[in-house]
Amino acid sequence: MNTETVYADRREAGVVMTSNCLNLMFQHKCFKNACLVAVMLPALPAADVLYRVTPSVNRESLVIEMTFVAAKPTVELQMPSWSPGIYSFQNSWETLHNLTATGEDGSRLSVAHTKGDTWTIAAGGHKRITVRYERPVQKPSFDSDQAASDGDAVHYGAQPVYLYIVDRKSEPCILELAIPSDWRIAVGLGSTRPIGGHPTFAAKNYDELADNPVTMGSFLEQHYKELDKEHILAFRGPARNWVDPQKTLEMARFVTKIETNFFGGAPYEKYVWHLWVYEGPTLAGGTEHASSVEMHLSTEEGPNTIQGMAHEFFHLWNAKRIRPRSLGPFDYTQLPHTGALWWIEGVTDYYSVLLPYRYGAWNREAFLARALDQIRQVRGNPARLEVSPYDSSYKISGDSPNHYKVNYYPTGWILGMMFDIELRSRTGGRRSLDDVGRALWNLSKNDPPGFAEDEIRRQLVHFGGLDMGSLYDQWVLSPGDLPIEQELAKVGLRIEEQQGQSGGASQIRERPGMTPAQRQLLEGWLRTKVSSRMPPPSETSVRVAAAKYDPSTFERYTGRYEIANNVLFTVSRGARSLLAGFEDGDKAQLTPISPSTFFYARRNAQIEFTTDLQGEVTGILWKQNGQQRNVPRIGPFIHSLHLHADPDAAFTQQVRAVLQALGEGVHSDVQIAGLSPGALADYSSSGPVRGLVNIRSLEYIDSQSVAGRNIQRHRGEVSRISYYKLVTEKKIRYLMVYLTSDGLVTDFDYVED
Ligand SMILES: [Zn+2]
Repeated sequence: MNTETVYADRREAGVVMTSNCLNLMFQHKCFKNACLVAVMLPALPAADVLYRVTPSVNRESLVIEMTFVAAKPTVELQMPSWSPGIYSFQNSWETLHNLTATGEDGSRLSVAHTKGDTWTIAAGGHKRITVRYERPVQKPSFDSDQAASDGDAVHYGAQPVYLYIVDRKSEPCILELAIPSDWRIAVGLGSTRPIGGHPTFAAKNYDELADNPVTMGSFLEQHYKELDKEHILAFRGPARNWVDPQKTLEMARFVTKIETNFFGGAPYEKYVWHLWVYEGPTLAGGTEHASSVEMHLSTEEGPNTIQGMAHEFFHLWNAKRIRPRSLGPFDYTQLPHTGALWWIEGVTDYYSVLLPYRYGAWNREAFLARALDQIRQVRGNPARLEVSPYDSSYKISGDSPNHYKVNYYPTGWILGMMFDIELRSRTGGRRSLDDVGRALWNLSKNDPPGFAEDEIRRQLVHFGGLDMGSLYDQWVLSPGDLPIEQELAKVGLRIEEQQGQSGGASQIRERPGMTPAQRQLLEGWLRTKVSSRMPPPSETSVRVAAAKYDPSTFERYTGRYEIANNVLFTVSRGARSLLAGFEDGDKAQLTPISPSTFFYARRNAQIEFTTDLQGEVTGILWKQNGQQRNVPRIGPFIHSLHLHADPDAAFTQQVRAVLQALGEGVHSDVQIAGLSPGALADYSSSGPVRGLVNIRSLEYIDSQSVAGRNIQRHRGEVSRISYYKLVTEKKIRYLMVYLTSDGLVTDFDYVED
């Protein structure tokens, strides 16, 4: 997790989908006509495959009933082994159970599970078959949360749920959601005539059905319209009540405006942002679809959020519609092969930084800092000298599902920038990568099969001349170092090493003696197009006037708070007021409105520090979106503690022994004196803790009671937190050790301060 790195899908490699705007529109027109005639027809048009989805009462599984006309004596059904946007085998068929098939008279048909992903049904002369099966919905976990349900909302999509009929994936599909009438639904498919009194949606074929995740149940919803199209934000997840929905909407709207402006139009009927909201620094995570996205959303929204949204939204063109031919139509039984993921992912990422910059979301310095970060990532990997950008995606296999040795995200970002500069330089600024992107979109907008593998090369040559072809062959098809400095020099820039700084700090800056021609190219490349019609969202959606207080009186509020289980939020002293934010994230200013109450404009939240009878700060009363919660205080920063004599040296020795055991690795069946049962269970499955190997000394600093604050670690109620200085063979670090009321260690955190 690196909040600095430029956004990339956690589920790598967004590839292909066959849906397309004109077809979608055509389909909807068809359905309008169908509605007029349908009054006299039976509920299910003969050619459609109906999927009725019924969530279980406990919302933990789905019952899928699939009804279709049997065209042959035997019918083969398959579950996709992978799904577009998630580029690895998932073997979802393993989670499917209780599959049965019946004829139109309700008689049971014979079903054979012929191989892993395939079931074969003997139609036995029946014309219409109903297949019923159950499938669990994903529960939240660190790895799956962008695609998971929560206690109130059922979400599914990125993991395959629907079986398809072999050789009949092109038939139209109908989705009926058999849900209670008070449930909400967010799905990118267009509505059609209800079946069974339930909300019902239409997909032109199986690929489109499978590409549309569903969120249903109780979740928060926001809407906006752009270009006459409906856009829905569906917030679910543990922190859905603690995000600023208006600010999120403004970010999504900004991204929608600038990217539809870039490509000229919105090639979908509606678009859904399926958002999993959590407390914690911005994650890189999203799975793109043709008319929706599944994304993580951190409550602390900032530039990374805009970039993540810009990346996923750009994919609705570049990946879902602009796509290489070798990726479609889908064969769900094997992973597709293309060498174009540097373009599909990396160039998408380049534009997810360039377009928000162009429309005013951040300044030139920030844009160039992002570019430098990509350069560092590319140059930090020695495999670039052996594996070409093309092969980094072409050679993806079940064994190396994300990329083959070289990461095509930063590599594609840099290639996008280099081709952009090169095109501008060759044409005196008349042509750019924008032309290539729009030309590819023109080729793709009427939903043809994907383009040939060399189409990107062809377009580069078309706009920049024959020599662009040999540059493509060198940069994309061959391994080696990319001549980044040479390209930057064409727009008068260079990478400058900062003198006297450690860690290779550097910056991209203007070269001394830049020529007017270089200046003109630079200004053309990094021009801005800020317009009042597309205002960049501000960091804060609400402003509150600050009351005047002596900042020194705020010192007692500084320290750590636990905003969600195991997620630390810090309050520290800034120059004029307090600063707040996640322990590992950016900090933003708090505006004082009373001696103990502050406005946290970044989240449109009011935070009031609470104290006990002794005047000790015990937590925050957090008020946001008309709700409130208690955020317990963990304790002060190390620098504000005073060194105390150790009141119980024997206990410190026991803590040291526990830490030593964690460093060596614990086993759930071997009790460790002084370690809580929950911590023993969790640490035995996570393996030895590297930072605790070879402890030289453990020095007591201080200890504070947190009893009654409802802080839990590894299922143990924390009663006291002790602070230590830990010296190992390798490092000196500070530790916070979480203790139960029985004096058992139930967790620890390393802290810098
Ligand atoms: Zn992506």
